[in-house]
Amino acid sequence: MITTPPSSVATMPPDALPHIVVVGGGISGLSAAYELGRSTHSAAPPVAVTLIEREPRLGGKIVTEHSGPFLIEGGPDSFMAQKPWAAELARELGLGDELMVASPMRRTTWVLVRGRPQPLPEGMLLIVPTRIAPFAFSPLISPLGKLRMVLDLVVPARRDDGDETLADFIRRRLGTEALDRLAEPILSGIHSAECERQSIMATFPRFRDLEKRYGSLIRGMLAARRNAPREPSAHQSPFMTLRNGMSALVERLEQRLTARIFTGSTVVTLAHRPAAARPYHLCLDDGTALDADAVILATPSFVAADLTAPGFPELAAALRAIRYVSTATVSFVYRRADTGNLLDGYGLVIPRGEQRQINACTLSSVKFRHRAPDEFLLLRCFVGGSRRPELPAREDDELVALARTEIREIFGVSAEPVLSRVYRWPNGNPQYDVGHLGHIEALERLCPEGLFLAGAAYRGVGVPDCIKQGREAARKALMVVSAAHAVAGSSL
Ligand SMILES: Cc1cc2nc3c(=O)[nH]c(=O)nc-3n(C[C@H](O)[C@H](O)[C@H](O)COP(=O)(O)OP(=O)(O)OC[C@H]3O[C@@H](n4cnc5c(N)ncnc54)[C@H](O)[C@@H]3O)c2cc1C
Repeated sequence: MITTPPSSVATMPPDALPHIVVVGGGISGLSAAYELGRSTHSAAPPVAVTLIEREPRLGGKIVTEHSGPFLIEGGPDSFMAQKPWAAELARELGLGDELMVASPMRRTTWVLVRGRPQPLPEGMLLIVPTRIAPFAFSPLISPLGKLRMVLDLVVPARRDDGDETLADFIRRRLGTEALDRLAEPILSGIHSAECERQSIMATFPRFRDLEKRYGSLIRGMLAARRNAPREPSAHQSPFMTLRNGMSALVERLEQRLTARIFTGSTVVTLAHRPAAARPYHLCLDDGTALDADAVILATPSFVAADLTAPGFPELAAALRAIRYVSTATVSFVYRRADTGNLLDGYGLVIPRGEQRQINACTLSSVKFRHRAPDEFLLLRCFVGGSRRPELPAREDDELVALARTEIREIFGVSAEPVLSRVYRWPNGNPQYDVGHLGHIEALERLCPEGLFLAGAAYRGVGVPDCIKQGREAARKALMVVSAAHAVAGSSL
């Protein structure tokens, strides 16, 4: 399918303009195409932009479903407020009034310990205690485990910038119990990662920065909270979303793009011909051929590997080395009357050692109340990843049955849900293994001039990081075509 929105760029003969092709219409590719369109208002030369997306719809992992009064997110359901790029883009697109923060009064996170949900004590900033009394009385960590965590105040700090696994870092600073009960389910859970392989520098560099500056995570978190009013405190929420769902961002971007958009079209080959007027040649699965001055690959890295393999085998091998795991989300709506005293808060994280079939459960309509009427509860379970890689491939009814069993055993809710939805993400979660950032730097150096990478596989998996990467790739591509344009102009 080819859509050509009316725009000044689209009506110009594309041959007269530098042409940039963006492959992949997830949030990274959409942000890149949007930023390229903005060049018509800047000093850069106008460019013709083409965005190609394999699926019939744009958005990639971002999928919002409106079912009656319920708002269900199949992929991301919110973004970190501390990373400003998503909220900034939403405001730029006129969606500022749609931005919402998660309910600050009900921000408790629960952790499953020996089969029973226990609340994270008040004053915990992610995994770091910043208030003595609630931490001291919490049953979440044993007295010995707490003592070990407090040793963070005196354990010598590591001050170099070398990478290490999240597990090594937490064991070093806070001890093994804090790793098993807190860091593994919370910090590795966010990334569907394995803490014994996960890079601290690529996923939580801030912890290493605090260690370096303050000699201790606890002192660092306390200082950060004192110094920065934006630091999430007990009364603020670190999460934001859009009232009409994350897809509102995708829809608004689509409306604002000045690009030619091809949906339901797969890029099957990418050739580099440095001597040609336009050095990149792309073929789509329907036989369409496109020549481009620059290309932004905003696909998963294994797709970028397939496309670059014939011309750049070393780059392709480096791209293929980025591991992925598969996940699925299973959402349920229950009648409140059927859920008894089910816990209140944002949700439950489950340590690997608990050996459950689900990895975590978000209480979606507690986190964001507008997602279901008050007499209902919307929750969603996370399945798969490295813990249970076989599960996401199971049939929908099997996943629903499995998640319901878990909800019954963990929360004691055995009622029939009024709605259930499964979203599967095969090879959907890139893994930032130790050494990731060095690997990405090396891989970027292997890219030929005019070829750029953006997306979850590289410099941040969160929606804000993907937006930032897409926009940065666009600015770099514009610089390359501007320089070529200037040379061509001066030789006339
Ligand atoms: C279950 C789940 C929950 C998540 N929750 C959160 C959250 O709450 N907050 C948060 O910030 N992040 C979250 N994330 C992460 C975040 O959603 C993703 O990292 C981000 O959306 C990825 O965007 P992207 O554009 O880089 O990639 P994608 O969304 O994967 O887009 C890549 C696009 O490329 C297309 N494509 C592939 N091959 C080709 C080809 N040959 N030709 C043309 N097109 C092609 C694909 O169809 C796809 O649309 C979650 C992810 C998952 C899976």
